Amino acid sequence: MSIRPAPLGILIFTPHRDVRRAIFDALDLDGDFVLLSARDATQLEALLEDAPPLHVVVVGAEGDPEIVRGLRILRACDRYASLPAVHVVDDRPGVAPAGGADWLRQGAIATELAQRVRQAVTTSLVPVVPVASARDYRFAFDAGAAWVVASIPQGCILETGEAMDRLCAGDGPAQGRLLAEVFHPAGGAAWPLPDGDAIACTLRRRDGMEIVGEIDVRHRTDDGEHRIAVGFRDLRATDMASRALSLLAVLEGCPSDDEGIGEAAALIADALDLDAFAVWSALPESEMGPSLITHLYNGPTPVEWPSPDGLPLLRTCLGGATLSRLVEGDDTASSDPLVDLLGLVSFAFMPLLDERRNVIGAMLAGRRRQGSDGRVLSLALRAATARFASALELRRAREQGRVRGLIDTLTGLPNRLLFNDRLDTTIREAERTGELFAILLVDLDRFKGINESLGHAVGDQVLDAVARRLRASVRASDTVSRFAGDEFTLILRHIIKRDDVLRIAEKVVQAMEVPLALDDGSELQVTVSVGIAFFPDDANRGEVLLRHADEAMYGAKSLGRNNYQLYAADTGVAQRQSAELKARLRHAVRNDELRVFYQPQVAAASEDIVGMEALVRWEHPELGMISPAFFIPLAEASGLIVPLGEWVLRTACAQAKAWDDRFGLRLRLGVNLSAVQLMQPDLAGVVASALRDSGLPPELLELEVTESISVKTVPRLVETLDALHALGCQIAIDDFGTGAASLDYLRRLPADRIKIDQSFVRNIGVDPDDEAIVKATIDVAHQLKRAVVAEGVEIEQHLQFLRSNGCEELQGYLFCRPLPVASFDKLLGERERLVGDGTQDRPAFRA
Ligand code: C2E
Ligand code: MG
Ligand code: MG
Repeated sequence: MSIRPAPLGILIFTPHRDVRRAIFDALDLDGDFVLLSARDATQLEALLEDAPPLHVVVVGAEGDPEIVRGLRILRACDRYASLPAVHVVDDRPGVAPAGGADWLRQGAIATELAQRVRQAVTTSLVPVVPVASARDYRFAFDAGAAWVVASIPQGCILETGEAMDRLCAGDGPAQGRLLAEVFHPAGGAAWPLPDGDAIACTLRRRDGMEIVGEIDVRHRTDDGEHRIAVGFRDLRATDMASRALSLLAVLEGCPSDDEGIGEAAALIADALDLDAFAVWSALPESEMGPSLITHLYNGPTPVEWPSPDGLPLLRTCLGGATLSRLVEGDDTASSDPLVDLLGLVSFAFMPLLDERRNVIGAMLAGRRRQGSDGRVLSLALRAATARFASALELRRAREQGRVRGLIDTLTGLPNRLLFNDRLDTTIREAERTGELFAILLVDLDRFKGINESLGHAVGDQVLDAVARRLRASVRASDTVSRFAGDEFTLILRHIIKRDDVLRIAEKVVQAMEVPLALDDGSELQVTVSVGIAFFPDDANRGEVLLRHADEAMYGAKSLGRNNYQLYAADTGVAQRQSAELKARLRHAVRNDELRVFYQPQVAAASEDIVGMEALVRWEHPELGMISPAFFIPLAEASGLIVPLGEWVLRTACAQAKAWDDRFGLRLRLGVNLSAVQLMQPDLAGVVASALRDSGLPPELLELEVTESISVKTVPRLVETLDALHALGCQIAIDDFGTGAASLDYLRRLPADRIKIDQSFVRNIGVDPDDEAIVKATIDVAHQLKRAVVAEGVEIEQHLQFLRSNGCEELQGYLFCRPLPVASFDKLLGERERLVGDGTQDRPAFRA
């Protein structure tokens, strides 16, 4: 039996898509990690309801209010209270997070993250230092929180964190002051406050300045001394940050022509309380020099904006430098005619860069007064530069009439710029005409691995081939574009039914299933994960649609890749219902609500019983019998399938042994295994123990592995199946024909039997193509020395066809439905009676 470590559960928690993507790429290694991702606190909360096994959380957004909230929710769950965290921080120098958590810069994700994550797990095996005895009170709060520790009962501040020192800048650290002087809880509550979270509170600096915020309070003992730790959150910044974030979302909705740039500028100036704002275009290839595209000024008197030539700070900025005097301590020279003219006290000139990092323009934002939100402002402005830069780029491409700038050279598809532009246009048209459309985000699975192991030349071939397959999967009127690296985006227009889109998504996934022929004659299998969002149902703004499609795409990845998922807008009812069911399911085993039914399998020639398949049912006290097709996916998503599957296995083995002892028929017992079970490192051990405990001879147990998901998504599948074989069990490939169905897989997998999926059997006598598939499957399976069972045999015609084409075993309603133990027992008893009293030699076995 192969022993390998169980995959580590990693929670990726970041609102930034680029960061998420980089993290995914770095950790998406074969089977080492199970990746779950959440973008905001609401999503995180929904995800935690399943109580997934997590080993590390990777956080990407220092100080983002949603993330702070999410982390608080996470820490409030007992099971994750001490989950180790690795923080990914901005690449700027000097931005190291306060707090005890491990961190690394964005630029180091690819090279270091996987190792850091493993390290974090190893270190956490030593129990995480309980806050109570830690000298480092930063553990008590979210990384980056401003904290102080004070003595009790005096309330004298003994120690302060860096963030607190920053808050009190110019005022000296708060050490030596009393809690009651510094923190003024709302409602006049007196210190020492009891433990509690998010209590509204004003922080009063020595210089009298007041900062509105919230505190969390923790009482601790430290070397026997009673201490009180107080974490403070500056809500001015949070408020500003949330305004800035929503602003950026709104900006994405502005068209990228000059009018749109002006619109965006007005929104920015308004939302960020700016007195002046301007954008210049300065294309390196243009002989005209910089030109002012848009400008706004809110001063006491209107001003005439000077020509760019006489503005030294603008010049320096166009040379690539950011010149900022937003935060106290920034020492950018201020002798500039424009700054003086506008009377700006705090301001920033920021260069606008194209995709190749060439300066193509500059942006100025300024105020006529000093604000205390400089840090957040500077972040919001930096994000806005990306928006203006892409507008300038598009403008350039349009002006120069150059198609080249809008087409991806490798694949010949529209690039991200042109896609965004088309999406804008499509939305505007759809708003007028009321049309429905969908966007699909198609992401190659594990592309990074291909690039790294086979080289970029092969990577390019793959991208090109994928582009062609995508193009071939859609109508001419649909847009396919290369959005970034290995991500493609599709706009499917004029949708009448959602199902049509699902069919196309299915087609896209399937289009990848034929291996790619590489230039050197070898073959390569790639798969894709697809996320789908609909206009206007899921969102009516391009950027939000894309974000939703992206989320759905990550959903598809988490479900094992190689599939598509719809954006689930409804975090409400449906999710709550399934969350409730999941919660109940957790207790179903203990509450004795699960049943195993058994469905006979018969020999095609004699129609006598040769085996049975164990099929689980859930007898819900209120909802009645629930089908496994419904609850198995729930159990898989939450990891519950592991104990549930083991219970089915043990129950069925014990039952089969009892029947074997009584009737001596040596019936084969089929038990279904989920992909999640196949990923458990000790699966063979569990099976061995079930066999040992029940006494069932191993050769009577057949484990059914679903073809569609297992083959590509379960790492080391072949080794796992070999280990099961080594126990003496048999292996069947279930639902054959619905997944990759590649003969090569069939050859490679150590299977004894294949089970032809009922969707093909159902079409016998209806669809000649499916008949041909059934026939070919039987032939090929026999050539490869695999036995064949057909599922879903419902009518005589199916039986005749299958029998005459050499299929040796059958399962289906024609013979018998799945039965509870007592009925199955009766059936076997009846058979014995018939054979026993010689009525029949081998009775036709039909229930
Ligand atoms: P499956 O393994 O392909 O099981 C065959 C399914 O076809 C069963 O559905 C069975 O009731 C149904 N069936 C059998 N004969 C006929 C027929 O003539 N016509 C039609 N229309 N259907 C027929 P069931 O019991 O609802 O199970 C659905 C699926 O749930 C199973 O498909 C299997 O993938 C999964 N499942 C069931 N029990 C377990 C379990 O214990 N563990 C795991 N991991 N999966 C299970
Ligand atoms: Mg099955
Ligand atoms: Mg099946």
